[in-house]
Amino acid sequence: MSVPSLLRQSALTSRTGVSQALRRPQWQSFSTIQDAPRAAIPTTTPPPPPTPSNTGTALQDAMNASRPRNNWTKEEISEIYNTPLMELTYAAATLHRRFHNPAAIQLCTLMSIKTGGCSEDCSYCAQSSRYSTGLKASKLSPVDEVLAAAKIAKDNGSNRFCMGAAWRDMRGRKTNLKNIVAMVKGVRGMGMEACVTLGMIDAAQAKELKDAGLTAYNHNVDTSREHYPNVITTRSYDERLATIENVRDAGIHVCTGGILGLGEKPEDHVGLVHTVGTMREHPESFPVNALVPIKGTPLGDSTPISFDATVRTIATARLVLPATIVRLAAGRINMTEEKQMLCFMAGANAIFTGEKMLTTPCSGWDEDKEMFGRWGLRPMEGEELISFKDERARAISLGATGLK
Ligand code: SF4
Repeated sequence: MSVPSLLRQSALTSRTGVSQALRRPQWQSFSTIQDAPRAAIPTTTPPPPPTPSNTGTALQDAMNASRPRNNWTKEEISEIYNTPLMELTYAAATLHRRFHNPAAIQLCTLMSIKTGGCSEDCSYCAQSSRYSTGLKASKLSPVDEVLAAAKIAKDNGSNRFCMGAAWRDMRGRKTNLKNIVAMVKGVRGMGMEACVTLGMIDAAQAKELKDAGLTAYNHNVDTSREHYPNVITTRSYDERLATIENVRDAGIHVCTGGILGLGEKPEDHVGLVHTVGTMREHPESFPVNALVPIKGTPLGDSTPISFDATVRTIATARLVLPATIVRLAAGRINMTEEKQMLCFMAGANAIFTGEKMLTTPCSGWDEDKEMFGRWGLRPMEGEELISFKDERARAISLGATGLK
């Protein structure tokens, strides 16, 4: 009970005739507070806050970064990841402010343009034809339907429209690729960023997409190299990295991240961040998904990832990938508003918003707008994105030190 409440209660009990003996214990304890000697008012400037003894060298190095570096060791990333959580999020929030505006969050909308029937065995995925999830497979959506959805997303404030197709790869899909090229051109024509995720692609397909104006290609590495074979067996980690190389070589921005809650250990979160942190150029976008278990998949009964592990991974990614946009992706629907804010504090600066996120429910635009209003956040603007990218490009190529 607070001191003012005690005072109010005491006055009340006095008026109602409650005996002095009954009141005494409360007043006695209050008197003790009043009678305690006052601390001397400092007359000199207080010393700077102490550097916590548990702040390691790797964390200090990360916080001093003026540009991204890609020579991280697993030991360094592990040291950062294992920093006490309060210290870790504070460090990530501090570095975040040097590379990004912390109030600006990018709004993206993700549409499934071809659902289900995928030949791969990703053990978390509702769209694999190997599992009975009750999902109905569909063909590629018509171009006009996709562009109508993109227009709704734009009108609601999204400035990135992502299109996902459940395919292993793009081999023998010339007609589909032609239609996807039309979708990309249409989305770009509306002034939005366009991102696609179509499975593995080769250099020629990447070039075709680049020529269509594609902003980014998503191809997640999902988890650490070590844990990956426990989750997917139909294509290798290196095949995934080869697609990412093709995307990078074509001059398309790379979006690659992970899924937490695949039965991995904390060291796999370190391994995941290490994979992307040592790419020759960091991905422009790093999505962090918390598994939404789907009944019928091998991971359908998984225990959800703990929230502290999610924040820890986001904060570590922010510190290792300072210029990258860190996306709070699947699983956000299961987070309270306060949890989402902690993720933003720790360095996440993009969300998926809209009616659906591929096959899973998603927090809607109106809900997100209200939440942003309560916390002083706002959607990242198009121009802001462009200047952010220019700044980022300068930082990478020149080793700029003036990033604020
Ligand atoms: S490749 Fe994509 S769509 Fe296919 S099973 Fe894996 S995650 Fe699902």
